[in-house]
Amino acid sequence: MSHEQLGHVWLIGAGPGDPGWITAAGLEALRRAEVVVYDRLAPAELLREAPSEALLINAGKEPNRHAMTQDETNACLVEHGRAGKRVVRLKGGDPYVFGRGGEEAVALSQANVPCTVVPGITSSIAGLAAAGIPITHRGVAVSFAVVTGHEDPTKPAEQANWQRLATAADTIVVLMGVGRLEAIAEALIAGGRPADTPAALVQEAATAAQRVVTAPLSAIAAAAREHEVQSPALFVVGEVVRLRQQLDPTELGPLAGQRVLVTRSRQQASTLIDSLRSEGARPLELPTIEAQRRADPAAVAGAAHKLRDGRYAWVAFTSAIAVDAFLDELADTGTDARAFANTRICAVGAATARALAARGLIADLVPDESTGEAAASAMIEAGGIRNEPVLLPRAEGAHPALPASLEAAGALVEQLTLYLSVAPADPPAEVLAAIRGGAVDIATFTSSSTVKNLAAILDGDLSPLQAATIACIGPTTAQTARELGLEPDVVADDHSVPGLVAALRAHLWERRMIPVGTEQAS
Ligand code: SAH
Repeated sequence: MSHEQLGHVWLIGAGPGDPGWITAAGLEALRRAEVVVYDRLAPAELLREAPSEALLINAGKEPNRHAMTQDETNACLVEHGRAGKRVVRLKGGDPYVFGRGGEEAVALSQANVPCTVVPGITSSIAGLAAAGIPITHRGVAVSFAVVTGHEDPTKPAEQANWQRLATAADTIVVLMGVGRLEAIAEALIAGGRPADTPAALVQEAATAAQRVVTAPLSAIAAAAREHEVQSPALFVVGEVVRLRQQLDPTELGPLAGQRVLVTRSRQQASTLIDSLRSEGARPLELPTIEAQRRADPAAVAGAAHKLRDGRYAWVAFTSAIAVDAFLDELADTGTDARAFANTRICAVGAATARALAARGLIADLVPDESTGEAAASAMIEAGGIRNEPVLLPRAEGAHPALPASLEAAGALVEQLTLYLSVAPADPPAEVLAAIRGGAVDIATFTSSSTVKNLAAILDGDLSPLQAATIACIGPTTAQTARELGLEPDVVADDHSVPGLVAALRAHLWERRMIPVGTEQAS
């Protein structure tokens, strides 16, 4: 008997929208997937968590357009599972809450393909929370019902069900109900729910596009038309809706619900995005910089040779990208970390030091300040600079302050260009639309090039960001923003990502503490 690899399918709930709202078990399985079959409602950012070589299959169901029928989806899971693959079926919310996860698990079971169901955070509960509506609350609601709006309230048999439901639960949450709001609201009122019961619609909950519309039950359908509420949206009826006044996440924390434009390069953005997300912000990623590798193999080979021979007194890295680029290039010449044995390493910036540590190298020097001049002074103070060869692996056209200051101190500086910083060719259309539509609350800039390149991407016009809070990592970046017509609201004292986030939170919280329109005592 042959022992081919036995396949396995994980049916994973991805949560309602925030990519952080997947379970630890779900993320673990996703990171090991060979095939990912995903839905329209599963957060797109999560697909980046799959291994880069994984096969991604869109089974996304758009209203009126089925990318795959349910039978085709079942067959697809069975086929890849039978082929011995680790298959992840990524679904929005929880797989068993109107997600047809049950049908998929049955199909796999019948086909003898091993399967694990990983529950998810359902939009019917967490999507409301993202809008400041707790599904239960002591003294307000002690029960809830989650129903599908696909059951047509104008059909006599189903009318009776809606009317029974009307008073059976304190909080009623309707999924897939946007197209039938009028009839559902009428049926609930006919069933005895008071017409003035507070109701709300939460569109695209827990994403940067989230919108909330509230109205009394009798007026909710008209409000939905007026505000053009679209699917996917949650429809919630009950007294808990009133608690939004106190529990709106945007009032509970400085960054919650804020749509924050992140302009850093994709390789560098993760710490900023993670710390924003951890407080409930909704990052909008528009990488304005991309590192394109541009190494001259002969120059790399020469530097590798000298490094192995211990002929450089120092190697100074000014970015994490430079670290990775140099170590990758060295690896291509068959050189590993031992080549640094007789050379001191300077890392400008904590992130650069971390990138080195990740490659097994501990920096001898991490200057307190990250400007070129300050880094040079720290190296000069540490000694071994005068008449000594110093290697600077860096970007083409990088700032000249560091090499100039080192040369002034007598160092024999050798610059090795490894990459070029360019503006990415295809900026994400939905983020451009958000900027142009004024749907950005905060814009973050972590270097002058992020400001300049964003201006270039927006055809020189940064005015759509005029109303946004402008946050800059330091004075140089702030100056560039001013030159391009954006007045910074926040300039970090500590020129690092944690420093930028800290300054931003403090600014926003301070602003909240002074309610608009309150007169200040002099
Ligand atoms: N399994 C999913 C629900 C699938 S049914 C879950 O547990 O959340 C699809 C419906 O879910 C949509 O029509 C909408 O009513 C609701 N929904 C899912 N994600 C949503 C989101 N982020 N915002 C608002 N509604 C959402």
